[in-house]
Amino acid sequence: MFQRILVANRGEIALRVIRACKEMGIEVVAVFSEADRGAPYLDLADAAYCIGPAVSKDSYLDIKRIIAAAEIADVQAIHPGYGFLSENPHFAEVCRSCKIEFIGPPEGAMLKLGNKTEAREVARAAGVPTVPGSPGPLLDDKEALKLAREIGYPVLIKAAAGGGGKGMRVAHNDISLQTGLAQARAEAQAAFKDSTVYIEKYLEQPRHVEVQLLGDHYGNMLHLGERDCSLQRRHQKVVEETPAPGLRPEVRDAMCQAAVRLARESGYNNAGTCEFLVDKNQNYYFIEVNARLQVEHPITEMVTGLDLVKWQIRIAAGDKLPFCQDDIKNVGAAIECRINAEDPAANFRPSPGKITVWRPPGGLGVRLDTHVSAGYTVPANYDSMIAKLIVYKPTRTEAIACMRRALDEFHVEGIKTIIPLHREIFNHTSFIEGQVDTTFIERNLLSR
Ligand code: ADP
Repeated sequence: MFQRILVANRGEIALRVIRACKEMGIEVVAVFSEADRGAPYLDLADAAYCIGPAVSKDSYLDIKRIIAAAEIADVQAIHPGYGFLSENPHFAEVCRSCKIEFIGPPEGAMLKLGNKTEAREVARAAGVPTVPGSPGPLLDDKEALKLAREIGYPVLIKAAAGGGGKGMRVAHNDISLQTGLAQARAEAQAAFKDSTVYIEKYLEQPRHVEVQLLGDHYGNMLHLGERDCSLQRRHQKVVEETPAPGLRPEVRDAMCQAAVRLARESGYNNAGTCEFLVDKNQNYYFIEVNARLQVEHPITEMVTGLDLVKWQIRIAAGDKLPFCQDDIKNVGAAIECRINAEDPAANFRPSPGKITVWRPPGGLGVRLDTHVSAGYTVPANYDSMIAKLIVYKPTRTEAIACMRRALDEFHVEGIKTIIPLHREIFNHTSFIEGQVDTTFIERNLLSR
């Protein structure tokens, strides 16, 4: 096992990894930018190194600085968390060539799956249904127009290197397709230095259902069940739950097996997630693989009893999974609310600043993953998510009641958060009945 690990991330996920290391008896080294200097979670690490200024490209995204810190700290492995360098195959390669283990999948699998058009090919090779659309990257506008007429409008333009909803545009006709292609290419070029785009049929009010995967270096690839992440705003997840309400058991099983096949096809190991869209008839279509730990991993931990971060570390250290698929038993219902520092009353404008009052909820079935507390200043430089409120109960009905109670207890002053939006969601009849899809929030809560 590793003696010392570096966490190449910040905020709640850095703390999540620090906690796992402590429980495993592994020393843990944190890194921080100038904007995070003095953050309380850094005191919980065995050491912490400044890696540069607030701007991510010169700190959390700067491979040279992170490797320098890792060498000075003499660590054997790096945990990348999510976001930042977590899905960067070049970073994984640099780590391994410096004899530092990258806690994540092999770079070959990351390369294949990180590109969405290539990932669609892997899916097809594994016999996994994909959303109807381009066979590969789009060559030119002419091909896009021809394809769009074949599959029928509306279509969705997507960036091959995409993530975080960037470079995505819906087109309803030839004209909006042409303007959308130009915009999506420019956005993709700016965000990912790769302007390659492709198109997919735009599914009407689909659900987003994803499968958690866990595999070792010895050919054992398991699924840990599904998560419904349909509650989104601007294609970004807001609430996640497991099990997916109302999903037919045979559909769930088929999706989970499809995800395992796809992972095997790409030579995957460690933790990962296979994302699908599900239409009204519960047909499922692969959209992408996230070759890393997901923000919403805690809900899977609650229902399986498995600590995903610890398993990531053990797998990277060469351990064999000591359980098989039949040993994985998902019990109960878990839900997560992302608590973002944003103002729902001002079109979700980020709301950084000093937290003056922080009264978090507690009690049976409540887990709060956060690095913040009263007196903490939320920097303006990073993602607005500051906490994840997770509940775990025997049934969905009880989990909803618990979340409603926890949201009522949660009191924050000094900054704005999206807690009021969550309160509305958990009081909405359609949500309570499990009638969810990716347009739920926009249709039911933001259109008034
Ligand atoms: P990103 O990697 O940028 O987050 P994804 O491919 O994971 O993009 O898609 C994010 C979300 O966008 C999905 O959960 C869904 O809400 C929406 N979406 C993606 N593809 C489609 C599609 N073909 N039809 C309808 N909605 C889609």
